[in-house]
Amino acid sequence: MKEITITLGDITTVKVDAIVNAANTSLLGGGGVDGAIHRAAGPQLLAECRTLNGCRTGEAKITKGYRLPSKYVIHTPGPIWQGGTHHERELLRNSYVNSLKLAEVHDCRTVAFPSISTGVYHFPLERAAPIAITAIQDFLQSAKFVEQVQMVCFDAGTKQAYDHALTQVNEA
Ligand code: ADP
Repeated sequence: MKEITITLGDITTVKVDAIVNAANTSLLGGGGVDGAIHRAAGPQLLAECRTLNGCRTGEAKITKGYRLPSKYVIHTPGPIWQGGTHHERELLRNSYVNSLKLAEVHDCRTVAFPSISTGVYHFPLERAAPIAITAIQDFLQSAKFVEQVQMVCFDAGTKQAYDHALTQVNEA
């Protein structure tokens, strides 16, 4: 059965086929979840990222997971919140959908996402959560390989926002 689950935890410890990294467009590492993923994966991850020539906002690129328990890392730069008038919603949805498309072509059944753009990129959490859940839900309807998508939230407030969004989408 295809499903979305919301968990509290550290995405670098999650054993799935692919974890998604809320990267920046350089793909050369940053703070937040990006820094944590690079630390846990080891230096080979950065070496592979250097060969990718960056990534545009809302698009996605895939690497191996190296020392991580996940086989792959899918890197996607989410949008920086600029007040909502710079296509931020559409770009955030693109980050989720394009990451899932890459997971699908690499035969991934299980995928874990962090809360893209709601850290240093300041996308308002209450707006980001329903966009993420709707994008994932829509994608799962036609997915062939991806079956289980986990939103891995790093703090209780983030988990609450995604739990709420999932309830609302399920009731709609
Ligand atoms: P962005 O630049 O896309 O906003 P951040 O890394 O700043 O990305 O934050 C995105 C989310 O990831 C935030 O909710 C942050 O708390 C969370 N986060 C940070 N470290 C981890 C981790 N190890 N596992 C899961 N989520 C994390």
